[in-house]
Amino acid sequence: MQRRATVVGLAAATTAQVWPLLALLASFTAGGTWWWASSGDPALARIAGMLLLWGVAGLTASFVLHEAAHLLGLRRIPTVASVRLERTVWRLSLIPAGTLTSRQLVAVALAGPGSCVAVGLLLALAVPGLWLHPWYLAHAVFVLPCFGDGRAILRAATAGRSRHAP
Ligand SMILES: [Zn+2]
Repeated sequence: MQRRATVVGLAAATTAQVWPLLALLASFTAGGTWWWASSGDPALARIAGMLLLWGVAGLTASFVLHEAAHLLGLRRIPTVASVRLERTVWRLSLIPAGTLTSRQLVAVALAGPGSCVAVGLLLALAVPGLWLHPWYLAHAVFVLPCFGDGRAILRAATAGRSRHAP
């Protein structure tokens, strides 16, 4: 599916990618809550609630932030006329129409993982006991060349070097 990218569209598409997991975690939470009400033991509800929190505010929200940072970065570039959101079974992709310099490409590629790492550091300082920060800090791996952001950075760096070579 392809459409013009918006932050709301990104949030909806990301949720659509992971909804079966979120539904499962919500059912665990409902079951744990039922058990708490029946037995007076809150342990299962607490565990299931933490898993649901990680699924929504960790996994899902971190990917929304990641892609939104890419989108907002692309929108700041005057030579990018529009950005399409492409969704497949396995991934979401933002496809810009227009031209980017190597520097702009690197900045946009770093914006996704960088924003997540920044939020992860804030969460680690503000609410370390919720253990949401690892979900955000883990986005640092996306700058490795085996991921799309890392490949874009490598491609831009290589193009910049070859263009400036004597
Ligand atoms: Zn990315």
